[in-house]
Amino acid sequence: MMGPSHAACGAAAWVALTGTYTVHLADVSVPVGLGVMPVGDPGVITGALICAGAALLPDLDHPGGTVARSLPPLSTWVARAVGKLSGGHRRATHSLVGLLLIIVLALLSQRASVPVGDALRWNSFSWPGTEGQAGEIPDAAASLPGQVWPLAAVLSVLLIACAVKVLAFVPDRLSHANWIVGILLGAFVAANPPQNPRWFVVAVGLGCAVHMLGDLLTTQGIHLLWPLRTSLPLPTTFYKGRSFVRFPVLGNAGSAREIALLVPVTLYALAGLFCAGVTWAGLTVSI
Ligand SMILES: [Zn+2]
Repeated sequence: MMGPSHAACGAAAWVALTGTYTVHLADVSVPVGLGVMPVGDPGVITGALICAGAALLPDLDHPGGTVARSLPPLSTWVARAVGKLSGGHRRATHSLVGLLLIIVLALLSQRASVPVGDALRWNSFSWPGTEGQAGEIPDAAASLPGQVWPLAAVLSVLLIACAVKVLAFVPDRLSHANWIVGILLGAFVAANPPQNPRWFVVAVGLGCAVHMLGDLLTTQGIHLLWPLRTSLPLPTTFYKGRSFVRFPVLGNAGSAREIALLVPVTLYALAGLFCAGVTWAGLTVSI
């Protein structure tokens, strides 16, 4: 699958999981989202950004690929290291082991927090005019979050930059601008996080799983059981080589069938984001 298809599938999967909307078209009511994990209206938008970026993450095993060029030089270094460790394209990062490792990484980065706001609040007791006044907190410190998550923040900026690079077709000569867009959108995500404590792990895991599923449907397949070389009990049609599994209903990456799938998937994702934006703004749209 091509990058834009992966990103659109990631955003659509997040909308499907978290959306709680119904669109009324004439007499027909169309649900947008299954509401399995409600995260609030802003959370549908910010989580979709992260999930779309995570849906590109497995292709970091391809040092010459689009994702590797999304946030230079950081993404280039990461892609070189991942490419070497994963043993080649569509292997470790497209396997069940790789998915598990990425989920563990997301879990660790969600837990590794630094109590910035608390430290400033504690120091506030020595601020001029507040000596001895327990509970007096300067506005600037009071407005800060109690904790920040540096690893999750860096990972979020990388994921968003990947999505921006792929969806906006940013040329390489402008790719340094992805840092600015990634940081700005990262701040937007941090200010409006999805309302579920496990949202980051779910968004990253879901995005990667959707990527694997997309590549599984192409002729090239994925090394699902990496590093094992054992074959699954399937007919040989579902193998490329000995260990690459595939259900090639989409044909080659970038095929007309993939584009035909991309159109409704993108429209679904956009419908979910539109509904979330309209509801967040407290508006009602009638057609
Ligand atoms: Zn891939």
